[in-house]
Amino acid sequence: QAATDPAGVPARPAGLPGEILHWIGGEAVPSADGRVLDVADPVSNTAYATLAAGGAADVDRAVAAARAAFPAWSALGNRERATLLNRIADAVEAREEELAAFESFDTGLPITQARGQARRAAENFRYFADVVVALGEEAFRVGAQQLNYVVRTPVGVAGLITPWNTPFMLESWKLAPAIASGCTLVLKPAEWTPLSASLWPSILADAGLPAGVVNIVHGLGPEAGQALVDHPEVPILSFTGSTATGRHIVRCSADRLKTVSMELGGKSPVVVFADADVEAALDSVVFGVFSLNGERCTAGSRVLVERPLYEEFTRRLAERAERVRVGLPGDPATEVGALVHPVHYRRVLDYVEAGKSEARLVAGGGRPAHLPEGNYLQPTVFADVPREARIFQEEIFGPVVAVAPFDDEQEAIDLANATAYGLAAYVWTSDLKRGHRVAHAVESGMVWINSHNVRDLRTPFGGVKASGLGREGGAHSIDFYTESKIVHVML
Ligand code: NAD
Repeated sequence: QAATDPAGVPARPAGLPGEILHWIGGEAVPSADGRVLDVADPVSNTAYATLAAGGAADVDRAVAAARAAFPAWSALGNRERATLLNRIADAVEAREEELAAFESFDTGLPITQARGQARRAAENFRYFADVVVALGEEAFRVGAQQLNYVVRTPVGVAGLITPWNTPFMLESWKLAPAIASGCTLVLKPAEWTPLSASLWPSILADAGLPAGVVNIVHGLGPEAGQALVDHPEVPILSFTGSTATGRHIVRCSADRLKTVSMELGGKSPVVVFADADVEAALDSVVFGVFSLNGERCTAGSRVLVERPLYEEFTRRLAERAERVRVGLPGDPATEVGALVHPVHYRRVLDYVEAGKSEARLVAGGGRPAHLPEGNYLQPTVFADVPREARIFQEEIFGPVVAVAPFDDEQEAIDLANATAYGLAAYVWTSDLKRGHRVAHAVESGMVWINSHNVRDLRTPFGGVKASGLGREGGAHSIDFYTESKIVHVML
């Protein structure tokens, strides 16, 4: 399929829906009050579909459907639930090409990278199927007299709220452990990128998931999202999105003491010592901040380089950035596509303009000349970025990286920790002892030493400081979606 038609408009993927509806109790339904929003693609920025704009009445209906499905779903054995999760993974894989085409068209992700997201989504279901089958419950013997054992029960109807970056994969990251644990749920996908979520109903129905286990209500955050947050029969909320929204949701959840998990923003440092494998570090930096259009929560968006390597590393990073191919999301040669939405694009451009007065621009800095329309930005590198600069402190969420020098290990740690965020960090050095020391001293939920951002689904995922609350992944996700009751019994 060609990436564009003759008018330069992105080719529309086959099967593009003209309207995207809620999915409640196994049925596609419009909003109770009939309201819709327009959804646009990020290349033409013109509407390709309408989206049902949900509100409190739709969320009420979805929560009622999830409550009705809960007794049967939570009573199923883990093996039966796991079988369904594996079927969902099969159904996701069977739709891989369609899913990737939808995701790329709607979000602006390069098509080759969108394919990887579909595979990761399938793996999330397979993985949590395995986890629950292998799950045991703890028992504690106290001498010969007493046995204490833990009973796990699903918390109830979960509210899942997700962002627009890699939307399908991030939805699967919450859907899979929630239903594996025996919860039923209401998902509120991001309003800018609902297209891939429109495939869930047929994927889940093909897999044989009972109606009402998963319900989807689309719409704006302050309307559909807020109604889910405030719903008295939703005791647990898993949110991925910006720190500002996360703080707001935590405040709203306080009165009902809801269980919350917050996967929020980041400004993750990459610390490169002079003894690092420079080629590998460069590859990793380029991948870490420019793949997924830089719209990645764990992007290594601040690169701290030891002084003796600083000039060389900065120069080579700038050269690499200039060579990154920016183009139509649907073109297999594209490495950076279009940023998700004109509002976000404007925000990122504002940061680039701020950066020009705060630091030294060494690559990019504007719209690529060959792409006069669409939300495109050249991969951009700023050097000599002072720690007070906004581009050092604030999450940009685009293909923009801030580079700064350091003189010793302590200064590297201080700089790494000098932001409000604490999601991920990366350390490059051939001195492994130092690598571990720095990894332990950096304030973040995850650190990679001499390694790309490679995820192992068994490990805890999450951030500290302004990057989040709680951990998901592996047993942490199951802990989150279940309550543990301890039963004490005299023998
Ligand atoms: P956002 O906070 O604007 O929106 C996220 C979701 O929250 C959307 O579905 C939105 O509709 C909803 N929402 C907005 N206001 C709401 C309200 N009052 N009540 C309930 N829901 C509401 O975030 P975004 O711009 O869509 O996503 C980008 C952000 O997500 C970045 O900061 C990024 O770092 C973060 N993120 C974090 C992780 C992680 O795992 N830590 C992963 C991906 C993205």
